[in-house]
Amino acid sequence: MGHTPVSKRRLCPHCARPLSSCICRWVTPLAQPTAVLILQHPLEVQHAKNSAGLLHRCLTHSRLLVGERFDAQTLQAVLQEPKYTVLLYPPTDYAGHAAPAALDAVQLADPSAVRLVVLDATWRKSRKMLHLSPLLQGLPRLTLHDTPASLYGIRKAHQPGQLSTLEATCAALAQLQGGAMVYAPLLQAFQGFVAQQASYAQDHGPVPLSEVALPGTPCRPQGGP
Ligand SMILES: [Zn+2]
Repeated sequence: MGHTPVSKRRLCPHCARPLSSCICRWVTPLAQPTAVLILQHPLEVQHAKNSAGLLHRCLTHSRLLVGERFDAQTLQAVLQEPKYTVLLYPPTDYAGHAAPAALDAVQLADPSAVRLVVLDATWRKSRKMLHLSPLLQGLPRLTLHDTPASLYGIRKAHQPGQLSTLEATCAALAQLQGGAMVYAPLLQAFQGFVAQQASYAQDHGPVPLSEVALPGTPCRPQGGP
């Protein structure tokens, strides 16, 4: 018995994946107090093992924009609602980059007044996104106090302790809320997603890019010609 040709497989209308690897069952809605803005690198959009799409569908108070370069006008439009905006990113000292503003502990104390910006990209691409988007460079940086062990066995970590976007964001949100355990159901769902993607890849090989293209219609990629 041969495999059904890729083009004949039925796709889930919600996540645009083949029904056998549909991730919709893992969507665990959670109304977190902190606003989350996910900036997703275009290469991540079609990545079958990407966790940000699931994260975005779980966090009711989140936005997802796709692009590599985010100009000030685009960012100012999405950052309009007055909040204390911080970037989840380790401290860096790149030549030519604006120095990040100092983190204000007083403003961080109210999680509902904070907006967390996360870059969904490989380490190398996230550095490029930062390089191309001066407004991001100047945002105060939030770093994780302690990094939980990653459940992310399905993608190669680029540095020790590196977490998936979903895990890192949950850890940051929990940190802002004083170590809240409310994100445990989401992490549990993520574990299911990881296992499902691993077993799908074992049975079928990597999910072809064309099968996971564009769930939903986020913003157009920025930085075109
Ligand atoms: Zn689905």
